[in-house]
Amino acid sequence: MREPFVYPVSPVPRTAVLVDWFRSAVLSSQSIRMFPQGWGAEAAQFEPAAIAATIEQLRTLCGVPIPSLTHAVIVLERPGTPRLTEANRTLFWHNFRVPLFEQIIGPSGLLLAAECQAHEGLHIEAQGLQIAQDGIHTKPCPCGRETPRFGVRSVAEIERRAAAYAR
Ligand SMILES: [Zn+2]
Repeated sequence: MREPFVYPVSPVPRTAVLVDWFRSAVLSSQSIRMFPQGWGAEAAQFEPAAIAATIEQLRTLCGVPIPSLTHAVIVLERPGTPRLTEANRTLFWHNFRVPLFEQIIGPSGLLLAAECQAHEGLHIEAQGLQIAQDGIHTKPCPCGRETPRFGVRSVAEIERRAAAYAR
């Protein structure tokens, strides 16, 4: 039995999930629909306000007009595969113009780690990821949760990004 897709914030808008990693939507939520074949006419007709897809899928969606996309892009990753790079984050932001939420999904569809609305790294949601101990942050997150996080950007990195955007 697979686990359902977990939308990062509440309330959940109409969300098209473009992979077959999760339990079917009927059992989880009416606003979440699975499109295991990926993006196509059927997904477009659903008029999703949010899209959950892999980095590769999102790269191919760059330049595709999706007027209904107003809420979020959820970037789905598997453990051990390359994480979303800053370059891709910038590309997706410029292309989709909605907040990005990174998620790492286990083989059964279980949410292992998730970016929250504070966008300060990924909260560890379940066991199953191998993370270097010195990469784990235990300070409370600006979102209010106190679960450990990783992938928190350093202050220097954030300042570099701000400088790049200001140019
Ligand atoms: Zn948080």
